[in-house]
Amino acid sequence: MARYAVLVIDMLEEFVKGRLKAPAAEKIVPKISRLLEHARSKNIPVIYLADSHYKGVDFELKLWGDHAIKGSPESKIIDELKPRDGDYVIYKRRYDGFMFTDLDMLLRELGVDTVILTGIHTHICVQNTALGAFYRGYKVIVPRDCVAAFSDEWHEYGIKYMKEFIGAKITTLDELISELG
Ligand code: ZN
Repeated sequence: MARYAVLVIDMLEEFVKGRLKAPAAEKIVPKISRLLEHARSKNIPVIYLADSHYKGVDFELKLWGDHAIKGSPESKIIDELKPRDGDYVIYKRRYDGFMFTDLDMLLRELGVDTVILTGIHTHICVQNTALGAFYRGYKVIVPRDCVAAFSDEWHEYGIKYMKEFIGAKITTLDELISELG
């Protein structure tokens, strides 16, 4: 039987309400919230990945400008999806949540073989974290109504990429919840 974990990627003030927001972000918040409630009730681990950059240092800031600077209000996980006791929060400085973080070690110690990806942006941090999972041998599930991007076009691009090149299972929240039982 699959051992799942739900990853919540970059549901931070910056990407939901701030300068780098995905316009569809507000729409996915209640969906992710419902998934997290369900996961916690089934003892499926909930792992937040949070962009957290060193100002004046991180390479990525040259491309995007300052965003999600460590300790800033913009780098906070939104209140609507506040982590609960027993959830995990992992800080990252690149798109891929596996890169130079302890995500892989945590998933291994939790016995996880299948990651469920939610959050922002479909074609950037979600897609790159899906690649990180793929390279390390995890199965990837993406409920398409729990991820969002700058535009519908970029969102569809990310979904297509993950489906075609990562073999991700693209599903919906309702289908996923019935699969999780
Ligand atoms: Zn970033």
